[in-house]
Amino acid sequence: MLDFSYSRATSLADASQQAAAEGGRILAGGTTLLDLAKCGVETPQTVVDILSLQGLDTISVDASGARIGALAKMSAVADHAGLSALCPALSQSLALAASAQLRNMATIGGNLLQRTRCPYFRDPVTFPNCNKRNPGSGCAAIGGVTRNHAVLGTSEHCIATYHGDLAVALVAFDAVVETDRRTIPIDTFFLLPEDRPDRETVLEQGEMITGIAVPASPAAKNSLYLKVRDRQSYEFAAASAAVGLEFEPDGRMLKDVRVAVGGVATKPWRARVVEQALVGKPLTAEGLRQAVGNSVDGAVAHGGNRYKIELLPRVVARAIQTVATTLAPHLAQDLGEPA
Ligand code: FAD
Ligand code: SF4
Repeated sequence: MLDFSYSRATSLADASQQAAAEGGRILAGGTTLLDLAKCGVETPQTVVDILSLQGLDTISVDASGARIGALAKMSAVADHAGLSALCPALSQSLALAASAQLRNMATIGGNLLQRTRCPYFRDPVTFPNCNKRNPGSGCAAIGGVTRNHAVLGTSEHCIATYHGDLAVALVAFDAVVETDRRTIPIDTFFLLPEDRPDRETVLEQGEMITGIAVPASPAAKNSLYLKVRDRQSYEFAAASAAVGLEFEPDGRMLKDVRVAVGGVATKPWRARVVEQALVGKPLTAEGLRQAVGNSVDGAVAHGGNRYKIELLPRVVARAIQTVATTLAPHLAQDLGEPA
């Protein structure tokens, strides 16, 4: 049995101080932390419950954007009408994540910090060699079963996928993570594994996420989160795309394009090469075909995950086509059937 002490934080400063101590862990909804404690990946000495801290679960939306408190529940954010009008992709990414029960428990701060579902990472007894869990011990996945592993952003030390959905939408629309110490643009919040897969974000020990700010933009307003997976519910993405578009008044030339992809990379992945290939040009079938091919630039397969390199451009193309033809129905004939 795991032996740890439990305390309820009285303030943010109290939570931060307790979490900074050796073996200290923040507990929000607990759907990641307790799961990992049960399988022996997490061995907290002190669990600091922050759920009763006041004022951290508010969601506010105005013309400039939205602010979501770290303790807002996934379900409350998914169902918020103002947020869904500001950025449909954001609401959709949450509605398509996990299960209704989990969404009612889990918080937005905890959601960003969920850990990989790499089966080798989650089974320390059978697989002691995992650089993310035990730096320098090797990687059991490389050469193993890799169907759900990443093809983008991998290193020779780790190929684990970041499986969260929300962060993909946040990366596409330039959200900012707010902590008790600073604000961090989300695209710099997550780290590549490189030679330190155990370090996943830039957060310091004891640093608390307090909220997330999402700026308003026409591309965010005209957005979609498309998640392709082995079954239609309660499943992580095989590949996903958060896409937002803004057309020039002529309804053909693209003024702004946002693309981020999930289920395929070691962190939520902004596909700027796809954006750059499309922006400032009229949207055509051939232009789209070429642009989405860029989404797998630099991709490396490890056996069973090779299919993702073929799947990802199709998912990105379908998402872009869907948003484009909703905004500009006259493009439907030119663009043809979705990929
Ligand atoms: P916790 O478990 O309480 O915390 C998670 C981590 O974040 C811990 O390390 C904790 O110390 C830290 N933490 C929490 N809050 C803060 C804070 N404010 N500041 C600093 N550190 C903090 N997710 C998806 O995106 N898509 C899916 O399809 C999906 N499917 C799932 C299926 C299952 C069966 C399960 C168990 C989970 C699934 N998830 C999925 C992941 C789920 O969304 C996360 O477990 C959940 O969002 C974590 O939130 P939490 O509040 O429960 O976090
Ligand atoms: Fe560990 Fe990463 Fe290898 Fe999975 S892919 S076993 S998380 S080092």
